[in-house]
Amino acid sequence: MQNLQSLLQSHPPAKPTPQPTSAPPLITGYTLQVPILMYHYIGNNPNPADKARYALSVTPDKFGEQMKYIKENGYQTISLDTLYSYLSLKKPLPSKMIILTFDDGYIDFYYNAFPILQQYGFSATEFIITGFVGKSAYLTWDQIRKMESSHLIDFEAHTIDHPFLPTLPAASVEKELKESKQTLEKELGVPVNFLAYPYGATNHFVEQEVHQAGFMGAVGTWYGKTQALSIIYDMPRIRVSNSFDMQTFAGLL
Ligand SMILES: [Zn+2]
Repeated sequence: MQNLQSLLQSHPPAKPTPQPTSAPPLITGYTLQVPILMYHYIGNNPNPADKARYALSVTPDKFGEQMKYIKENGYQTISLDTLYSYLSLKKPLPSKMIILTFDDGYIDFYYNAFPILQQYGFSATEFIITGFVGKSAYLTWDQIRKMESSHLIDFEAHTIDHPFLPTLPAASVEKELKESKQTLEKELGVPVNFLAYPYGATNHFVEQEVHQAGFMGAVGTWYGKTQALSIIYDMPRIRVSNSFDMQTFAGLL
């Protein structure tokens, strides 16, 4: 068990390996097979001794190869809104649909990932920690607005301060959820419908608060690619690591 305080105080936020504290959420009802890939940094690791950052980084070259692979193999990107619509309507999706997500709003997304996404015409979702926007290593509002206007990138909420929500007082949970949503909506002028849990951490209470705050769904970090409305407040994702070769990457999809 990693020390929670050290995780909360680290900046940029370090991610613990998700601990299987409980059984995966129960999947019932209509399902669709849609891998939601999870990235953090797209950059060359500036400090190899920084193991947390290394684990969360994919180099721009490797990311470019992965995007080339999905393009050449006939995959298409969709948004979380589209997935939600198909699940609600119980409509089938063509095979080879994929969702690309990026957590934390690091500035390297603008310089390293966005040009590659534009090159292939791929859409993606970036989860923004609203209190960190404009800080060193994080995107600025100008960069976020510029990418938003491309209509390729959806910006969704990742709280204000990246706290571990399950142990936060109820009033703080409410504030973290509502204010991050409102800030993004005010800055971008578009609805913000989805949330990513910091550290993938949630529980029944937090999920109820996410619903109350007006979110349509939320993503976690537990592994899986089966999506359903029964798990819309804790959708599974597939973590992409820099250590994956192309064969491993292809096997995830
Ligand atoms: Zn995060």
